[in-house]
Amino acid sequence: MEGYTLLKVIGEGSFGKALLVQSINNKQQYVMKEIRLPKSSGMRMCKEEAILLAKMKHPNIVAFKGAAEGHLYIVMEYCDGGDLMEKIKLQKGTLFSEDVILNWFVQICLGVRHIHDQRVLHRDIKSKNIFLTKNGILKLGDFGSARLLNSSTAFACTYVGTPYYVSPEIWENRPYNNKSDVWALGCVLYELCTLKHPFQASSWKNLILKICRGSYTPIPSHFCYELHYVIKQMFKRNTKDRPSVNTLLTRRCFAKLINKYS
Ligand code: ADP
Ligand code: MG
Repeated sequence: MEGYTLLKVIGEGSFGKALLVQSINNKQQYVMKEIRLPKSSGMRMCKEEAILLAKMKHPNIVAFKGAAEGHLYIVMEYCDGGDLMEKIKLQKGTLFSEDVILNWFVQICLGVRHIHDQRVLHRDIKSKNIFLTKNGILKLGDFGSARLLNSSTAFACTYVGTPYYVSPEIWENRPYNNKSDVWALGCVLYELCTLKHPFQASSWKNLILKICRGSYTPIPSHFCYELHYVIKQMFKRNTKDRPSVNTLLTRRCFAKLINKYS
């Protein structure tokens, strides 16, 4: 790829490699995502990911830098603090403090609110797709499954997401909507509180059963009432009863932190 030097391979993704590169022009480091798929569909999907990511400009969204026309490459801001799943694993069972959880989760919600305001659904929200910078800023990345609400390709691709984070309506073959992203957000908040997935099972059948019943082990009792309450709301089976990200952000525990990040 012209204009960039390859530093190292940082990730092996579902569609190809994620490379850490350095711009020859400004010496800044970026992530270059290479997408390898059968030609026509790969090109379309990469283009869609690039177009949606390029539309998003927000401190809690991975910044788009460019994409090579006719090539399957996207260049974006490099988040040098790893991803949230790594952070969770590094804890080795020691729970995060409530303060850290609230400050992180607010940033994730602000990122998601930004995309929902533009009628874009992420459709693969999970701790592995949330990146950190060394300065403690969280950014939502990997727009590879993102779609514009009600677009034709959103209906065309039925499989979406990572099993643990998939909401009851998707297992029941109903359309993906903004509340399905909220369900996945609930899974991330639960992971932050317990370091575990809310819904886990030894077989697909049992996983789906657990998700569709919405039954999970409560988070530890030392967490504030608000955290218990929002998790319960985010795991409502019926999408109408599940709060939007906007509503979530009006909860006092989150609202008081928003000014720090916007
Ligand atoms: P995939 O669809 O393959 O999951 P991702 O965009 O999530 O694609 O990239 C795969 C991996 O590359 C990530 O899990 C992460 O380790 C790394 N990565 C991707 N984007 C970034 C970024 N902006 N900053 C740092 N690491 C990244
Ligand atoms: Mg990913």
